Amino acid sequence: MIVNWINGEDVGGRLGEYLEKHDPNTGDVQSWVLNSSNADVDVAVRAAQEAYLSWSEKTPVERGSILTKIAIRMEEEASELAEIVALETGKPIQDAEGEVSGAVLQGHFFGGEGLRMFGRTLNSSVYGKRTFTVREPYGPAALIVPANTPIANLAWKVFPALVCGNTAIVKASEDAPQTAIFFARLCSAAGLPDGVLNVIHGYGEQCGNYLVNHENIKVISFTGSTAVGKKIAVSVAPRLVPLSLELGGKNPFIVCADANLDNAVHWAILSCFSNAGQRCSAASRVLVHDSIEEEFLEKFLVRTKKLHLGTERNCDLGPVLTAKHHANIRRMLEEAIVRGAEILCGNNFTPLPEAINGYYIAPTLVRGIEQTDPINRQELFAPVASLQTFTDPREALSISNDSVYGLTSAVHTENIGLASWFTKHLKHGVVNINIGTFGSEPQFPFGGYGQSGNGTREPGTEALDVYSQTKVISFSAMADL
Ligand code: NAD
Repeated sequence: MIVNWINGEDVGGRLGEYLEKHDPNTGDVQSWVLNSSNADVDVAVRAAQEAYLSWSEKTPVERGSILTKIAIRMEEEASELAEIVALETGKPIQDAEGEVSGAVLQGHFFGGEGLRMFGRTLNSSVYGKRTFTVREPYGPAALIVPANTPIANLAWKVFPALVCGNTAIVKASEDAPQTAIFFARLCSAAGLPDGVLNVIHGYGEQCGNYLVNHENIKVISFTGSTAVGKKIAVSVAPRLVPLSLELGGKNPFIVCADANLDNAVHWAILSCFSNAGQRCSAASRVLVHDSIEEEFLEKFLVRTKKLHLGTERNCDLGPVLTAKHHANIRRMLEEAIVRGAEILCGNNFTPLPEAINGYYIAPTLVRGIEQTDPINRQELFAPVASLQTFTDPREALSISNDSVYGLTSAVHTENIGLASWFTKHLKHGVVNINIGTFGSEPQFPFGGYGQSGNGTREPGTEALDVYSQTKVISFSAMADL
């Protein structure tokens, strides 16, 4: 039984309703998770409000030093944390370990931001007027995260929110509740005062929706699908509460005629299939110059067929997160086949005899579909990509930018001028040359153009702008000597 974490302790629900969380690898029930009622959310928000005054009164340096202690504790408990992440998501353990390391770095980065928390000095036109800016927190923050990289997603939001002096209520993903609770307990054990970080569980459309619309929530940061992000934006608009949206992607991976093909294939496979394609930054449209299509495809298929599915160490990818998502991907592929899609690899949904009920999708590459086909339009969030060809870089650019999303892209070419041209014209928040479509780091701002977000960037120092508001202070002070 997994319950809420409020004011530094486990708190059960008023209604006592629980939801089932299933093991993606087997389909078996893995845990029972509290389905929070509105009254349960109220308790968490109250705790965050009560903790706010003393937390926000601490200096950023003090807050940062507590975050650094949390990061150190995460390092000490990294193997247990990685095991929980792997178990809840079904990803191979080395991927979970990598994710934990990234989350630890995030803690160190924002711990350090406590020392650096900066404003600006401004010049005034008025003689003797000294003007500067300071950052101030908002109050209790609602932080909503998905389960694809659960500990990274938590670290991505909790550390910058707290260093800025906000308190927080995390609405954990239904699909990774244990990771959130383990993290909250660890924060407490590392010295985070009670009530500064609270975790609630339950369905997003119920308790998540109630949380973001709570009058005492003063800032909201949401990572998830564009559809849900839009719903939240509409529902909270009347309160004019600051909102950061980190949403979906339909990311192109462009291979030019002069690309180093082995390197391009290596990164294309990682971009399309690692983490079972469940990354906002996964490549789902592979665009290859038509002169190298056959050579690229041959190398791509040879290497893809060697990928191992499973949750064991050194497997390449595990299952997708839920039965519902698995069924949805199968349906999308079956419908695409009816429309004439050629499946170049994959189309195999139960590759592991010992995990026959697990939510596996073999790495799939699809060809022969229109640019307007749902497979090329909708975010699949799965190890599924389409292959398209182009004859001219302008055509590759036009296909790449033909999407409501604009999160990430990768271009493979040995021509620095061409690479530079793509970096100027691609309409994405992240453009990578000769690597993958993913690969964010704590010090990099991440976010998308178009419907991949609402213009905010997290993490990096840019995240401080999400979680703090600016006050301009002026002194008219000059001795008349
Ligand atoms: P989702 O939008 O279904 O759910 C995300 C979270 O929102 C969950 O915790 C869910 O419970 C909650 N939620 C659902 N409805 C809600 C509502 N009405 N009000 C408040 N909360 C609600 O997304 P998902 O399927 O869990 O995650 C996959 C999506 O996340 C993909 O679109 C992916 O691209 C995106 N994502 C984006 C980034 C990024 O940084 N841009 C990173 C990771 C994942």
